[in-house]
Amino acid sequence: MAAKKSKDAMPLPWQWPEETWRGIVGKVRAGRSLKPAQWKDGARVAVALSFDSDHESGTLREGESSPGKLSQGQYGSRQGVPRILALLERHHIPARFFVPAVIATLYPGEQRRVVDAGHEIGIHGWIHERNSVLPAADERDLQKRSADTLERIAGVRPVGIRTPSWDFSAHTLAISREMGLLYDSSLMADDDPYELLEDGQPTGMVELPVEWIRDDAIYFNMDRFSALRPYTPPSSVLEIFRAEFDGARAEGGLFLLTMHPHIIGHRSRIALLERLIEHIRGHAGVWFATHADIARYVKSTSGA
Ligand SMILES: [Zn+2]
Repeated sequence: MAAKKSKDAMPLPWQWPEETWRGIVGKVRAGRSLKPAQWKDGARVAVALSFDSDHESGTLREGESSPGKLSQGQYGSRQGVPRILALLERHHIPARFFVPAVIATLYPGEQRRVVDAGHEIGIHGWIHERNSVLPAADERDLQKRSADTLERIAGVRPVGIRTPSWDFSAHTLAISREMGLLYDSSLMADDDPYELLEDGQPTGMVELPVEWIRDDAIYFNMDRFSALRPYTPPSSVLEIFRAEFDGARAEGGLFLLTMHPHIIGHRSRIALLERLIEHIRGHAGVWFATHADIARYVKSTSGA
């Protein structure tokens, strides 16, 4: 009864005093833009390809054990990652793979192949948990153990994080700062890199912003037992991604793409990624870089 009473007593959003809504909005916020005057070696546009190797973790984090659903995730390791690595090698492009610790533990050889090929590995939760429903202590414990696990398996300490499902909690920034991370790549306040503010104060932490528009999952996801179907053909996804790149190049900005090996790795879709890379390669002044290289570059040019 006591809990119910205190809930009833809580003011509703339209009753909040200004300090309440200002406090909520100001907890984690975009600060100054870190978009450089020009990119490395005079490049006109920076291109950051990222692959979130979720594999089976999307099923596991729901507490589900269906071998059918798990097999869709395993496809990411068996077919997706090898195809992606071959494509990146053909075009000499470095990329960033964000990997949940449970998946890195299931597939340690895959992570070592990724690192040996010159790519980087970043934090992507323990089992793709939803940070916003976790107590802060659990989120902190899982994020730290995830970094330790990736370092042990891949041999390199991760310097960046992408929260699973981009579910960035009110505690995530403080935890990432405690861990001394260089950048986050989960938020959407800009097209180009910016400095994160915490409670109005600059943090020196770089945000490399994402967007659902530049994510393969929203166009291709499918769930047999709901109405979710992939209605967008690969040619239309290519058109959208190409327009996002063209816009970034016109503005001298960042083109950051999020993909998933178990989604983009299929035959009809890896082909669209290759067409996109060919389109990008057809332009001069393109800097293909890992997220860490971009974060270091914008920090060095801005003094953040
Ligand atoms: Zn993910």
